[in-house]
Amino acid sequence: MSLLEVKNLNTSFQIGVGTVRAVRGVSFHVDEGESVGIVGESGSGKSVTMLSVTGLLPDYANISADSILFDGREITRLNQKALRALHGSEIGMIFQDPMTSLNPLFTVESQLTEPLKNHLHMDKRSARARTLELLRQVEIPNPEARLKQYPHELSGGLRQRVMIAIAIACEPKMIVADEPTTALDVTIQAQILDLLQNLKRESRASIIMITHDMGVIASMCSRILVMYGGIICEQGDVREIFYGARHPYTWGLLNSIPKVQQKRGEKLIPIKGTPPDMLQPPAGCPFSPRCRYCMPVCRAYMPPVTALSDTHSVSCHLLHPNAPKIEREV
Ligand code: SF4
Repeated sequence: MSLLEVKNLNTSFQIGVGTVRAVRGVSFHVDEGESVGIVGESGSGKSVTMLSVTGLLPDYANISADSILFDGREITRLNQKALRALHGSEIGMIFQDPMTSLNPLFTVESQLTEPLKNHLHMDKRSARARTLELLRQVEIPNPEARLKQYPHELSGGLRQRVMIAIAIACEPKMIVADEPTTALDVTIQAQILDLLQNLKRESRASIIMITHDMGVIASMCSRILVMYGGIICEQGDVREIFYGARHPYTWGLLNSIPKVQQKRGEKLIPIKGTPPDMLQPPAGCPFSPRCRYCMPVCRAYMPPVTALSDTHSVSCHLLHPNAPKIEREV
């Protein structure tokens, strides 16, 4: 059963020189207890999509959607107060940089107890007991001492663990993790991913993992949405994407992952070119300026979505029956 169902989401920003069309007609769903990865380069629209869905974009963002249903409620009809109540209680957010998400003026204890008091109406004593339990759950050593500390007194890894503790404090139905390991060094990244995997096993929450790292997706998610130029260009379950991808951009992402059997000196294959300028996105397929298989039709028309199975769909003109038969080059 779907926990989140998004239909035809469009988000744009009016700036001095024009309109940035960051998200263009995105539709997807997330089932209860499911882990879904949203992958793509910077500027592909993945973070803006989830910030639009959760109502966390600034007022100057122009958001429209046919429907955004969360747990049976139409989010687009909620007022600011109802949306705020949803955050922290039913939707937990984990951001890339905890230093900018945590308030530097408040101790760990006051930042952890706030959602417990506001959303669960806990008294001071119960909230403190719950904060200690949460710090243990996210494997923070010596939690009593940590409660009295300020964010700047903690390492990057500990700050991210505090952020995760805040996100899960009220046992939300959905957790959105936006590049949760990008700002951390490699060993701490691995620890935080282990922690998120444990939380996934222990909780019944749906998890949406936003990342540019296909390796993170492979270890955490059962389904993948690939975004490029503000659209979902391919989506499918992990097997369909890793072993049966059909979009040239997804091929590029997969070819740029280091392999276990990578030979010494063998180079990774980057995707040539740069992401499109969303002030003036290409008229047709957004990947056309970088795609080695681009045909004249690609520059003129946005490719339609072709369903290959109940879970796998692709937006590429190569799926047309009359198009050349191209296979992924590995
Ligand atoms: Fe490449 Fe054309 Fe497919 Fe776009 S629609 S990915 S340009 S082949």
